[in-house]
Amino acid sequence: MTSIDNFNFKNLKAIVRVDFNVPLNDYFEITDDTRMRAALPTIKKILNDGGSAILMSHLGRPKGREEKYSLKHLVNHLKELTGVEVIFANDCIGPEAEEKAANLKPGQILLLENLRFHPEEKKGDENFAKQLAALADVYVNDAFGTAHRAHASTFTIAKFFPADKKMFGYLIEKEIKSVDKVLKEGQSPVLAIIGGAKVSSKITIIENILPKIDVLMIGGGMAYTFFKALGGKTGSSLVEDDYLDTAKEVMEKAKAQNVKVLLPADSLCADAFANDANTKIFPSDDIADGWMGLDLGEKAREEYKNTILQAKTILWNGPMGVFEMDKFAKGTEVVAKAVAEATQNGAFSVVGGGDSVAAVNKFHLADKVSHVSTGGGAMLEYLEGKTLPGIAAIMK
Ligand code: AMP
Repeated sequence: MTSIDNFNFKNLKAIVRVDFNVPLNDYFEITDDTRMRAALPTIKKILNDGGSAILMSHLGRPKGREEKYSLKHLVNHLKELTGVEVIFANDCIGPEAEEKAANLKPGQILLLENLRFHPEEKKGDENFAKQLAALADVYVNDAFGTAHRAHASTFTIAKFFPADKKMFGYLIEKEIKSVDKVLKEGQSPVLAIIGGAKVSSKITIIENILPKIDVLMIGGGMAYTFFKALGGKTGSSLVEDDYLDTAKEVMEKAKAQNVKVLLPADSLCADAFANDANTKIFPSDDIADGWMGLDLGEKAREEYKNTILQAKTILWNGPMGVFEMDKFAKGTEVVAKAVAEATQNGAFSVVGGGDSVAAVNKFHLADKVSHVSTGGGAMLEYLEGKTLPGIAAIMK
């Protein structure tokens, strides 16, 4: 496979699928440019080599052409971030894009209009992909957030480039390497911390990672389905009754594979799902009627922290409680801080999936873990062991 680091873009035009799906306010100002910044290493590599970059992305969910979703709102900021003049094409295919691409000089950037102004993008249409491909000599996919979609710009386009003219950008490369470092080359003990609301949304991930880990730490609402399955009293905690057997099977499979499963010994419970509810700590398998577990209790926090500090490899997905409410954020905070501390002591840590990323950001720890994934849904599917079309298309 071609690696971007070994490739020389000199005098070549690279069409790069970036994820510039940034939030804009009512004045079309970018309120969070994380995704644009994440693409900079790839863009700079191409320009510094003496190549030119044709950037393509989607923005929002337009129904046909809608000005509020135009990528023209990003031009000035892209200029600031790159320090390079940015040429804009009002359509991603057609005569204007073709002419501007043909006249593009080494060191220049051409930003194409929103791919999703054309319904063909999401359909993975061949003819549309072919027109995009014709604009450039090389294809680079650096949009991990859409790698799980078989769209024209993430999947179909790759077939129009030979193996030595298509590659991942630095961002996707880092995402894949980080997860592989945990699941394929993880140094023991390998710990997976899985939290969040429901067993149903995490079961495929758990089943996929079980053979690759030593310890499975469960937290959040999903823990109560396990406690109920084991015969415990869970009060009015969130329980998925149709997943009780699944929870039991996970425990059995873990035992058979020598994976230690940790459940929170105690829970901080509330008499209502509200930040101003009354709270009380109960053993997690003996919660009184009318009380619901919304966070780790003190014993669980201590035990989880100690286990995390002993791990050499850590994968974390899903919060340990209802961390959006300050009263129930402590467990998630303790876990986040322990993951950061373990990382400082030499462990390799990956945080992936929407809410756990929000949690490390809330506690300002994003730069204290080894890798924070930018691709919510794509990361979850990758952890589930699914083949992501955007990745497969490059590897083929
Ligand atoms: P997920 O998207 O599956 O990772 O779930 C994240 C959501 O789970 C967050 O919005 C949390 O507030 C919620 N959550 C975590 N712990 C609990 C709990 N004990 N009871 C109810 N919801 C929870």
